Amino acid sequence: MNSRNRTLTIDGIDVQLVRKRVKHLRLVVAPPDGRVRVSVPVFVPDDLVWLFLQGKLDWIRDKQVRFADYVGKVIPAYISGEQHYLFGQPFTLQIIETSGRQSVIKQADTLLMYVRSGNDANTRSKLLDNFYRNELKQQIPGLLELWQLRIGRKVMEWGIKKMKTRWGSCNITRQRIWLNLELAKRPLSALEYVLVHELVHLLERNHNRRFYALMDSYIPNWRQQKQLLNERCVKGEMV
Ligand SMILES: [Zn+2]
Repeated sequence: MNSRNRTLTIDGIDVQLVRKRVKHLRLVVAPPDGRVRVSVPVFVPDDLVWLFLQGKLDWIRDKQVRFADYVGKVIPAYISGEQHYLFGQPFTLQIIETSGRQSVIKQADTLLMYVRSGNDANTRSKLLDNFYRNELKQQIPGLLELWQLRIGRKVMEWGIKKMKTRWGSCNITRQRIWLNLELAKRPLSALEYVLVHELVHLLERNHNRRFYALMDSYIPNWRQQKQLLNERCVKGEMV
């Protein structure tokens, strides 16, 4: 049997390539951790495998996110004593019943969550999301002002969204960037890195040599930032 194994990295995804006496390309995203393997007929050249995988990236990511959801995700209960992160710092959640307005307030290393009696984890999760959104909204304008000046491009619009597979995105035509709500939990340097990545797309659309050279000049340690972002998290490929 003539078989040859190696690993390709395509758009941040490691793919184990196994050459076999098979008739067709066969792509598998395997449990439990979403490892990707492709069986390739001996006669199919590498560039065709590459093209095939390019066309399957969304499908692969979708599968991997499902595995991540299934395997390691701790579902918070939003109860007192639980730990939640804001800009890389741990905070202890404290639930306080109120008949007034529901809100989350940061006090020293505690997040005080004021809730009406009988409210469930789903409502609490939304309250925390609102808190995270507001925290991001306080940080982003300053960073944007600084980096728009450095990069020499401006966005027409920006926003915060829950995204499953991306830390950020940039619509070049509309000059609009989206940032992932999840960034509120990561260190501020990560938010800055993602924001700069998206702004650099206004200078260079593609992830090519010029793009990376620009990133090197603006954030010399961006590779480290990227690695930290994706370390404990399968979701988080950036586009
Ligand atoms: Zn990008």
